[in-house]
Amino acid sequence: MPPVKGAANTPGEAVKPDPFVSTTNACKMCKPLGAALAFMGIEGCVPFLHGSQGCATYMRRYVISHFREPVDIASSALGEKQAIHGGGPNLKLGLLNVMKKYGATAIGVATTCLTETIGDDVSMLVKEFKKEFGDLPLPEIVHVSTPSYGGTQAEGFQAALRAVVDQLATDEAKSTQVNVLSNFVSCEDIRHLKDLFEDFGLNAAILPDYSERLDGPALEDYVKIAPGGTPVARIRAMGGARATIEFGRVLDPEKSAGGLLAERFSVPLHSLGLPVGLRECDAFFGVLEEISGRPLPRRHELARGRLVDAYVDGHKYLSGKTAVVYGEEDLVVAMCAFLSEIGVKPVLAASGGQSGRLAGAVSAVTADILREPPEVREGVDFYEIAARARELSPDLVIGNSKGYRVLGRELDIPLIRVGFPIHDRFGAQRVLHLGYAGTQRLFDQIVNAVIEKKQADSDVGYGYI
Ligand code: SF4
Repeated sequence: MPPVKGAANTPGEAVKPDPFVSTTNACKMCKPLGAALAFMGIEGCVPFLHGSQGCATYMRRYVISHFREPVDIASSALGEKQAIHGGGPNLKLGLLNVMKKYGATAIGVATTCLTETIGDDVSMLVKEFKKEFGDLPLPEIVHVSTPSYGGTQAEGFQAALRAVVDQLATDEAKSTQVNVLSNFVSCEDIRHLKDLFEDFGLNAAILPDYSERLDGPALEDYVKIAPGGTPVARIRAMGGARATIEFGRVLDPEKSAGGLLAERFSVPLHSLGLPVGLRECDAFFGVLEEISGRPLPRRHELARGRLVDAYVDGHKYLSGKTAVVYGEEDLVVAMCAFLSEIGVKPVLAASGGQSGRLAGAVSAVTADILREPPEVREGVDFYEIAARARELSPDLVIGNSKGYRVLGRELDIPLIRVGFPIHDRFGAQRVLHLGYAGTQRLFDQIVNAVIEKKQADSDVGYGYI
């Protein structure tokens, strides 16, 4: 008998979704969207979608509403004719246009559903292009396969990073560089990571680095390619680095950029969870101490101490509360790790991703604190998440803006906005999630959301809680 849709599962086990042909507000976004964002974190790089115009327009809309910056994503603009005869000529013409109009020093080509379905051989087309136009000053051209029917934006993001490293990194020069593959985090997170590595005296190459390109200062004149991004030279040097730190517990090292650097160039890989919460941060700072040979700088020791103090002070508000968490799998795992240590029980961990690794990762970060791990659901949409949330009646919902209508508004539960996209609040690019400082901000936000809800629901209207 097939499993019943929406039925409760054994706690901690991922429920295999029924075969179905449609979704109601999918809890995921387009795979090439993630690839385009990763490419935007490379200096001088223009993301290029090999597909129809509408794909690029949809993605720009999401990225602009989150980052509130002008964002260009080029497209080979395929129509019916190319869908039948192949998109090669359009791809080559598009690459030429981007070279001429933008002066790009790098172009990141991601395929779409259409070009994957018609079977365009992008690797061969790029080789042909380089041969045909070899007399021109060509940019670096990296390509990645990102059919959206086979994954999420997070998977597209990671696939693009692996492709970048695969196609650009060498081990020709050994250096003191530490590679940092920081996962799909906010611009503020990237800036914070830069400060942290500097405090430990480490020469970090963060990939991707869209902290300036997608959250830059106001400029007098429009610039076609915003400054900032990981320089291609730093990516080339990744094969000769002293170590790689890669965030993501759901990320499979055998398929990740860090895994490739370890396998091909023997760069030692430190595979960690996103540093959110005390324990995940302690693990990260421990690695920084190990690599740098320096103890935790006082500034961070104090930040840690303040966080512990806040946990003690805020515990009375949070003890016994429950939460539904959804979004990208790695972020869901990080939030479950954090919530369980502050006394909020994650009762449902849901994602549109279907890595098959979510349940194990959630269980690993909560096992020594929670009596039973949260219910985990992979490959779900917001219809299913809301149905289960109605049964579970959580006190909090934690995730991106896409869940607001059905989870925050309809169920009248505070929604703590984390991840991507956040398009119904201002300053998403400046949300800090990582490190003791990021954890502190999330913690304060959660405690205040609980207080605010209590005030709003009270007949008395407490003025002092
Ligand atoms: S899901 Fe496929 S068709 Fe839709 S925007 Fe993404 S790549 Fe294009």
